[in-house]
Amino acid sequence: MKRIQTIAEMKAICRQLTRRGKTLGFVPTMGALHEGHLSLVRASKSRCHATAVSIFVNPLQFGPAEDLSKYPRTLERDAGLLEDVGVDLLFVPTVDEMYPAGAKTYVQVEGLSGKLDGASRPGHFQGVATVVTKLFEIVRPDCAFFGQKDAVQVTVLRKLGSDLDMDVEIVVCPIVRERDGLAMSSRNVYLTPEQRQQALVLHRALMRLQISADQGESDAAKLSEIGQQVIAEEPGARLDYFAIVDPETLDPVVDVAPGALVAVAAYFGATRLIDNILITS
Ligand code: AMP
Repeated sequence: MKRIQTIAEMKAICRQLTRRGKTLGFVPTMGALHEGHLSLVRASKSRCHATAVSIFVNPLQFGPAEDLSKYPRTLERDAGLLEDVGVDLLFVPTVDEMYPAGAKTYVQVEGLSGKLDGASRPGHFQGVATVVTKLFEIVRPDCAFFGQKDAVQVTVLRKLGSDLDMDVEIVVCPIVRERDGLAMSSRNVYLTPEQRQQALVLHRALMRLQISADQGESDAAKLSEIGQQVIAEEPGARLDYFAIVDPETLDPVVDVAPGALVAVAAYFGATRLIDNILITS
């Protein structure tokens, strides 16, 4: 695995690969890797000749009161994991490399960027869209792999790719969970053992809602009430939002049909966690 820090070198190597007729898969991350990230790498390896991963804790996507400075950084461990799964290129630019003084261009996906997580985290999706646009231009991958875990991010990035006619296939991979149902997240390390237990309520609420949908309930207000009731029973959880939406528009649905996105965000102490399901029946 080749580790690359500069944009110029990353561009040169990626261009060389594609000129030689290799397809290139790309997995953008912020590091502190877990099985969720590695599942994206494996998906890329199964579809593309070569796989590039970026590790970049993107300051643009953190609000002023968020956890940028304490976000877990475990580069050497991450590099070992990526080497073991057979990644070809690891791109680890510095903040100055990505955003040199004087950079003034931001990418904004109007509308979608202000919904759900975007409403709770103003500026977050502008930061995500800007960094992903830059990374796509640097790597020019054939396919880019993202996790369903960040469902709103998936919606925003699909719209970005289609609005800007980007020549990249966006591949979305399922949420990888711990054995007890907690969605894997780099932020889970912030949780105390007690909060870790409390956080299971997210998956429990989503499962309870899915069961009611399986039993024939399709009224979004009723299903939402069922999910939120489960969360309310956990005093350690402070709900941010609970929403049943169309995954393309992020607008609330009235009747819940298969494919509807049920998304939840809640705080456990100072840690904000998200989870979601796509309704299957
Ligand atoms: P992050 O490092 O948090 O920016 O995440 C990088 C990529 O990994 C994003 O596309 C995430 O959606 C994805 N990801 C994070 N957690 C999971 C998970 N538990 N299962 C699947 N994908 C995930």
